[in-house]
Amino acid sequence: MRFHLPPAELRWLKSAAAESNRPLQALIQRRLNREPLQYILGTQPFGPLSLKTCRPTLIPRPETEDWVLTFSEHLSKYFSPLPSRPLTLLDLGTGTGCIPLLLCHLWPNSSLVATGVDISHAAVHLANHNAALCGISPSSFTAHLSDFIDSDFPNMQAIKPPYDILTSNPPYITASDYLQLSDDIAKYEDPIALIGGYDGLDYYRAIARLIARDGFLARRAVIALEVGHNQGAAVCDLIRPTGFLPTVWKDPWGKERTVIAHRR
Ligand code: GLN
Repeated sequence: MRFHLPPAELRWLKSAAAESNRPLQALIQRRLNREPLQYILGTQPFGPLSLKTCRPTLIPRPETEDWVLTFSEHLSKYFSPLPSRPLTLLDLGTGTGCIPLLLCHLWPNSSLVATGVDISHAAVHLANHNAALCGISPSSFTAHLSDFIDSDFPNMQAIKPPYDILTSNPPYITASDYLQLSDDIAKYEDPIALIGGYDGLDYYRAIARLIARDGFLARRAVIALEVGHNQGAAVCDLIRPTGFLPTVWKDPWGKERTVIAHRR
């Protein structure tokens, strides 16, 4: 099927070509090849932040932006009274760093110290670059190369449990749904950031094992996990045996989007 460029996209491409001194025709051709606009423009708004986007790291989605903004508003409720020390956060599969960077931005003055991990070199580099672009210092956020699904995770000094907050937007698409994805996602975004195994739940199983580990999360810890639209119940079932009480938040489009959990 032929793909027509909407006028607004053409305007964005024109200004990107002018700003970066790139030939407009080349940018148009990339878009006609179904490359996501965010990779061509190199940027994606996320709340008040403007994040750099770069192939093949997952482009932050509006659904993620929405729950992170809501979650930030709820944080003070989970931690009332707030401790006098900074809250600590670990983000698993950090990608562009969008989740911890937005939370650090919304919780300024070092009230939050966040760490991100990702299996992809490109993502780790991009997340640290985004932190610098957003004016968030390495003492507030750093991303590290690590595979959190590995049984010996965390095998590095940079990971210092216990954490107050655990966040993740892990790969959750089932192997068969991946085959149905549109070209602009499937051809350009890293499959490692998207496919969560046969039933899409592999990474939640690894996360549940981490949560269950003694001393990994603080006594009053809170967990926020993005899920696929039909995974809420299954992820709650994985979390419940760890002693955390899960609830499912829907996104503005009425779909299950986030499992939030705190201790009973
Ligand atoms: N929401 C993403 C998509 O629909 C998937 C992100 C993920 O697997 N974590 O493409």
